[in-house]
Amino acid sequence: MQRTCVGCRSVGPAEELVRLVVGPEGEVVVDLAGGAFGRGAWVHTRPECIQKAAPAGLSRSLKCEVRASADTVIETLRAAAVRRTRGLLVAARRTRTLEAGASAVEEAVRERRAELLLVATDARASADFAWLQPLIASGQALAFGNKTTFAEWLGRPETALVAITDARIARHAKQAILWTMLEGPRAETSGARLRTSSEAG
Ligand SMILES: [Zn+2]
Repeated sequence: MQRTCVGCRSVGPAEELVRLVVGPEGEVVVDLAGGAFGRGAWVHTRPECIQKAAPAGLSRSLKCEVRASADTVIETLRAAAVRRTRGLLVAARRTRTLEAGASAVEEAVRERRAELLLVATDARASADFAWLQPLIASGQALAFGNKTTFAEWLGRPETALVAITDARIARHAKQAILWTMLEGPRAETSGARLRTSSEAG
């Protein structure tokens, strides 16, 4: 499926764009699940496209007054992406396609069942998990959240490592996690800052 970006106005595959919905007060909601009611338009998840989209592109396209700035939309997108990541991890646990904890995750990797690995940013990864390094280098393992994040989301003790073994859930989770690291157009260039559930509210 193809979508037109309200920022750069080019057409691209739907999975590279997210839907923005404008509320009655001119606020912008990021609709990652794609089912929210309201007047919406699609945008690439790139700072330069979001900057063109909010507020000018959206106002023009939807013929209404959009009040949200690009920075606000990016902040909203990051928060929505954290919630989506949480929902996907919970879904994976419910469908028994999630492994948590170092030994279960290492076993899933050895058996080639692990589609995506998440490594808590406060895990002592380099010292304790040398076998992870090639997976981090290849993008199969991503740094995300911290040990408390996984503990709260999954209802278990502090957890440094999580693996998703369902390919579809893993693909969506990887996408969502990359969105949680999206930088604003005026953000400092000190590298992607990792977001946690507490920061996102
Ligand atoms: Zn665009």
